[in-house]
Amino acid sequence: MATQRVLIIGAGVIGLAHAVTAREAGYEVTVLERDGRALGASVRNFGTLWPIGCAFGPERDQALYGVKRWKEIAAAAGIWISGQGSLSLAYREEAWGVLNEFGGGRGDFELLEAGEVVGRFPAANPDGLRGALLSREEAVVHTPTAIPALTEYARGLGVELHFGVPVVRVHEDRVETADGRTFGFDRLVIAAGEEMRLFFPQELEAAQIQPCRLQMMRTVPQPGGFDLGAIFVSDLTLCHYPAFRDCPSTAKLRSRLEAELPEHHRWGVHVIAAQHHDGTLTLGDSHEYGMDLPVGSRPEVDELILGALRDFAVIPDLRIAMRWQGTYLKSRIGQTQVVLEPRERVTMVTAMGGLGMTLSWGLAMRTIQSWNT
Ligand SMILES: Cc1cc2nc3c(=O)[nH]c(=O)nc-3n(C[C@H](O)[C@H](O)[C@H](O)COP(=O)(O)OP(=O)(O)OC[C@H]3O[C@@H](n4cnc5c(N)ncnc54)[C@H](O)[C@@H]3O)c2cc1C
Repeated sequence: MATQRVLIIGAGVIGLAHAVTAREAGYEVTVLERDGRALGASVRNFGTLWPIGCAFGPERDQALYGVKRWKEIAAAAGIWISGQGSLSLAYREEAWGVLNEFGGGRGDFELLEAGEVVGRFPAANPDGLRGALLSREEAVVHTPTAIPALTEYARGLGVELHFGVPVVRVHEDRVETADGRTFGFDRLVIAAGEEMRLFFPQELEAAQIQPCRLQMMRTVPQPGGFDLGAIFVSDLTLCHYPAFRDCPSTAKLRSRLEAELPEHHRWGVHVIAAQHHDGTLTLGDSHEYGMDLPVGSRPEVDELILGALRDFAVIPDLRIAMRWQGTYLKSRIGQTQVVLEPRERVTMVTAMGGLGMTLSWGLAMRTIQSWNT
């Protein structure tokens, strides 16, 4: 049988993970990317690989597989990656309750009392600190350099990549691009991120997905060899990810935070701080939903993020070198990934919410395995 042709729309992390995995499995792979380089969510995120955000069970396993793959690929492709782990800091009694319910008795996690936290992580704000949960599985990449390096790695494997080539129409066995060319396929993967709605909009609508826009910032490089020591999060983040949903204290923490911090609740602010090899910190984020959002970032939301950061981290230099926005698709019914097959041999795939960097390799493996069954 002739080698099967896999065509992929989109050179973000999901498209690239599919390209590499399909190529490794022996397929002939072509990627079509509308922009001159990937400019979507994949280069606008924190770069955190985040099993701690994933629900226990298959999704956490998928996330752990994703971290393992990222480490393998990083070693092969010369991508900087830091397996520094995460530190979830608790300031409210309810947050400490969540961390104990979540991490207590589970070997992957270490519960630290306040004194120990400050001894081991001098950047943790000691003021009102109750304790923290240390998890060693999380890692960080620097997406502005990691995604281009992953692109080159795919090319080196023999993936054919075309940039500046928007796909405008999908036919039964080929796609049409804006410049009038056609590319044939045996299998098509649509990994167009937030632009998925341009293809098969009815199927997407039925999957109950909406765009969500986030505000992000990056600091200047920190002085004097400052080392955050782990990815830092705090009380607000414990209400954000599916992993903590089932802890009895999460609902109590949410009610308290909504009452104490109504503006943070209004703009969906929770705060992650991740440090990169160049000493900079990526900070965010907020969550706004809709198709008609204003063009500019909201300065007051950036201030909410920075204020919440100061409550749990002592950062030497909080001057902001860069501000940007990112958009991803979010499920109205709490799903974290979507795989649709709107037509035979066509797969639409994206991760929703803030976990696509983490879940991409597992998604790709599942898609390619499904072709063999
Ligand atoms: C601010 C922010 C922070 C996040 N933080 C994290 C994090 O720390 N950890 C984590 O795991 N996840 C995180 N995520 C989620 C993660 O970034 C996304 O889930 C992931 O990047 C989605 O990848 P993608 O390839 O589907 O989309 P994208 O990166 O958006 O790529 C889609 C690509 O398709 C191209 N395209 C679109 N239409 C066409 C067309 N017609 N023809 C050709 N090409 C087309 C686009 O140009 C784009 O390059 C975050 C997301 C955001 C926005």
